[in-house]
Amino acid sequence: MTDEILRVDGLKTRFFTDEGQVNAVDGIDLSIDRGDTYGIVGESGSGKSVTARSIIDLIEPPGEITNGEIWYRDPDLADAIADDYPDAIDGDRIDLLRIPPSVRRSLRGSNFSMIFQDPQSSFNPTITVGEQIAEAVEVQRRASANPRSTRARSEEYTLTSMILGSMFSSRRYVSSESHEQAIELLELVGIPDPVERADEYPHEYSGGMLQRAMIAQALAGEPDVLIADEPTTALDVTIQAQILDLLDDLQEELGMTILLITHNLGVVARMCDRVGVMYAGEIVERGTLEDVFDDHVHPYTAGLLGSVPDLEGAAGRLQPIPGNVPSLLDHEMENRCHFADRCPKAMEDCLDHPAEYPASGSDDHTVRCVLAETGYDDKRALPGDYFDGTGRPAGDKHVGPDDRDGDHGEERQHPPAETTGGEHQ
Ligand code: SF4
Repeated sequence: MTDEILRVDGLKTRFFTDEGQVNAVDGIDLSIDRGDTYGIVGESGSGKSVTARSIIDLIEPPGEITNGEIWYRDPDLADAIADDYPDAIDGDRIDLLRIPPSVRRSLRGSNFSMIFQDPQSSFNPTITVGEQIAEAVEVQRRASANPRSTRARSEEYTLTSMILGSMFSSRRYVSSESHEQAIELLELVGIPDPVERADEYPHEYSGGMLQRAMIAQALAGEPDVLIADEPTTALDVTIQAQILDLLDDLQEELGMTILLITHNLGVVARMCDRVGVMYAGEIVERGTLEDVFDDHVHPYTAGLLGSVPDLEGAAGRLQPIPGNVPSLLDHEMENRCHFADRCPKAMEDCLDHPAEYPASGSDDHTVRCVLAETGYDDKRALPGDYFDGTGRPAGDKHVGPDDRDGDHGEERQHPPAETTGGEHQ
């Protein structure tokens, strides 16, 4: 029996730019079990990070979540807010997109936390690492004391800290308990001499050490779900391995669920139980690690796997996927398979946008590709020069935002009633 902690249904996140509407996340579904690691993999620009940021509510204007549901299972929270937001509750689950932004934000730290690709830009260079981790601990301690006022407390705390900090540089705003807990967190993530290192500034840490410190900060609230967005990309290979080992160990020790965003299939193979392959804002294939690696159907999945060096296999050239990911601008996205211009098996059938079909392997192995429905028929193959070099059908007239026939764009389902700076105004 599964213990689903997070379920995303039909999530759409748009950016309303001067160039037009960008469909960064275009109706994705995914399901994560408690204690598992779910990997979202794809090239840069496929919508992976926007998906992660949508889940943790870090989308800022001109971005906006326009449709979908994000169901999070937490019986205590569901019970606590059921009277105030009955429409957002289904048993012991909460639809995070139906609760006000202030409540949603209060879940950051204790329920959801995130580690980012570049630790250098995530730490304030003028404050010691220990102090910054202790601040995160302090905010969570205050929030636990009064969970309904997390936002107000954390904002007040930050403002007070800034004002008093500018007047008395030696003043401390975190309790000694929080400082001690920060040192314990540094020790937990394998920082040697944590007492001394806590008093050092970010520039005194190496890249790997700072990444560990960021993980320590993310663990301050003992989150249920840790979202790791390309957590090892900025590190050299040996440090990457150490950070992955650390995440593995912490997951086992703390029972965390991890959503891992990466372009690196080696990281996926090592860490993940389930995988979603993302392309042009859609999850085009999803299933268990074995489904996706051993029984994949989608040519994009095959292309990603073919572009990974195989040190144990026969020596041969890597097979990069030709072409580029599309811009995701709504008026440039045609109603066909978005991978068709790069796909070696593109057929006439692919000129309609494919549905999601069940695929081989486990029950929930699905693929958004007609090959799962009809198989490949070279009699229906598109000619090699069907698309021009920009991904459009050769000779096709460009259709701009003012020329559209109304098939694109949609009514916005969200945001919820309370709007903030994080919502489209
Ligand atoms: S739907 Fe067609 S073009 Fe798209 S990936 Fe499948 S075979 Fe290729």
